[in-house]
Amino acid sequence: MKALVTGGAGFIGSHLVRALADSGIRVHVLDNLTTGNVANVDPRAVMHMADIRSSETRTLLIRESPDIVFHLAAQADVQQSIHRPDEDADVNVMGTIHLMQACHEAGVSKLIFASTSGVYGELQKQCIQEDDPVEPISGYGLSKLTAESYIRLFHRLYGMNYTILRYGNVYGPGQAAKGEGGVVALFMDRLKKGSPLLIHGDGTQTRDFVYVKDVVRANMAAIRAADQRTVHVSTGRTTSINRLAYDLLKLHGSSVRPVYSAARAGDIHHSCLSNAVARHWLQWEPLYGISAGLKETYVSIIGSGKEGM
Ligand code: NAD
Repeated sequence: MKALVTGGAGFIGSHLVRALADSGIRVHVLDNLTTGNVANVDPRAVMHMADIRSSETRTLLIRESPDIVFHLAAQADVQQSIHRPDEDADVNVMGTIHLMQACHEAGVSKLIFASTSGVYGELQKQCIQEDDPVEPISGYGLSKLTAESYIRLFHRLYGMNYTILRYGNVYGPGQAAKGEGGVVALFMDRLKKGSPLLIHGDGTQTRDFVYVKDVVRANMAAIRAADQRTVHVSTGRTTSINRLAYDLLKLHGSSVRPVYSAARAGDIHHSCLSNAVARHWLQWEPLYGISAGLKETYVSIIGSGKEGM
């Protein structure tokens, strides 16, 4: 089997590329390195430095004819999407359409798409299900939702199989200290520099934090399952930003109190995604709770912690 991973030089993509190579799948990476780093790419993969919107993408897909495409390349920064919704839509909507056209011409049998909990906006619900109403509050949430619609349309028009994976807030080793869900990486970065943790808003906002290795396992499971499904990749549990800060400071052995600043536009207050559909259709469940995932991330970035969690 041959796979192509767009965004394979990024945080989640590079973990996925490694897992695909480990399982004996031939992997090609397509990435323009806007936020990715070629040093992240497993040497067993073939790296192609190109933009998903470029003509090279079409040429590459037709030449390599992969069986499966994982589409992770994106403008993934919520704040950037508020400042420049045009650029965000250009990458996330036009880029996806361009990629889908190339996949269709190349006879790709399945596309697995990295979507987001951001499609729901401020839905007032304890734990969101996949068929709940979508009402994004950022350009990013809307561009991902629009890309999803085009992927479904390509299935209706041309029969191309897909699985849409809507991730919770992904964290783990290798995450840059910015972008969507980057709060764990940002906190680690500040701990490393000896700076106080910075919290936007009052810290009571919650997130469904899912560990990157679990996200990779969900992508792998989707190779042979959940065709034409939209599936949450999440823990179904929430952690407040205050709690996250507390746990990390404890692990670090620090008593420096966090600093609070104004809440940011486009940030959702509460986020929890049910993972019942993933359990059923992907036969997947997260193996990492927040404590185990944070500890592994901490050890990989900073070293062994001062206290057990
Ligand atoms: P990332 O920024 O580390 O990875 C994105 C990759 O895409 C980078 O390597 C970047 O260089 C590449 N890229 C960007 N624009 C491109 C273009 N036009 N052409 C080719 N390559 C391009 O982000 P990530 O956190 O690894 O996210 C991966 C995917 O998962 C994204 O689609 C993101 O929207 C989605 N997602 C992430 C999270 C999260 O918490 N990190 C949550 C939900 C969804």
